[in-house]
Amino acid sequence: MTDTPHIHLGSLLRTSSDAHAAGNLDHLSYEQGGETQTLRFVRPAPYRIDVNPLGGNEMYLQGSFAPTIMMECARCLRDVEVPLDLRLGTLLRYEPSADAPYLEEAETGEEVLVFGDPDLDLSAYLAETALLQAPLTVLHAPDCKGLCQVCGHDLNEGPCEHMAQVPVEEIDDLLGTPEGSAHTTQHPFAALRDLKLPED
Ligand SMILES: [Zn+2]
Ligand SMILES: [Zn+2]
Repeated sequence: MTDTPHIHLGSLLRTSSDAHAAGNLDHLSYEQGGETQTLRFVRPAPYRIDVNPLGGNEMYLQGSFAPTIMMECARCLRDVEVPLDLRLGTLLRYEPSADAPYLEEAETGEEVLVFGDPDLDLSAYLAETALLQAPLTVLHAPDCKGLCQVCGHDLNEGPCEHMAQVPVEEIDDLLGTPEGSAHTTQHPFAALRDLKLPED
């Protein structure tokens, strides 16, 4: 189960036959910027990959990948399981001189996965696809009350003495804002007025 997702494209390149790979992954390890990154999944993540030749050194990869990743609730920081159901579809190009597989943008704007080893390691491709399609922020519940910014108390478990100083709206405003950015002005009861909740 911990094996890396490989697809063997040697015979596809020689005889123009199709290639297939499938399995379950509990994590992906891949190189990024010279460092090994690991993306762990909450439970075994099934993948299916089919590659069809398009002629020359080009082929088309399609398939599915359904990893469940762990993210932090943007307000209260508790762990949230985020199931993803990814459709895969990418042009491949074989270039014997290529080192590790990399994504390149074609003139059409389409992404092309360029690789040099016919025993193609899909770890980085699958990890990148999962991270790109994961939501930027998640809430463990649509009405999560967040943490008290004074004492850190989880307001989902009840109020603390600072309660009025922690409008949920402000927490919303800070979502996606770089750390250390200036606090917005506080309106003690704004939370009751302008609560913006995500659709799902
Ligand atoms: Zn929460
Ligand atoms: Zn407090």
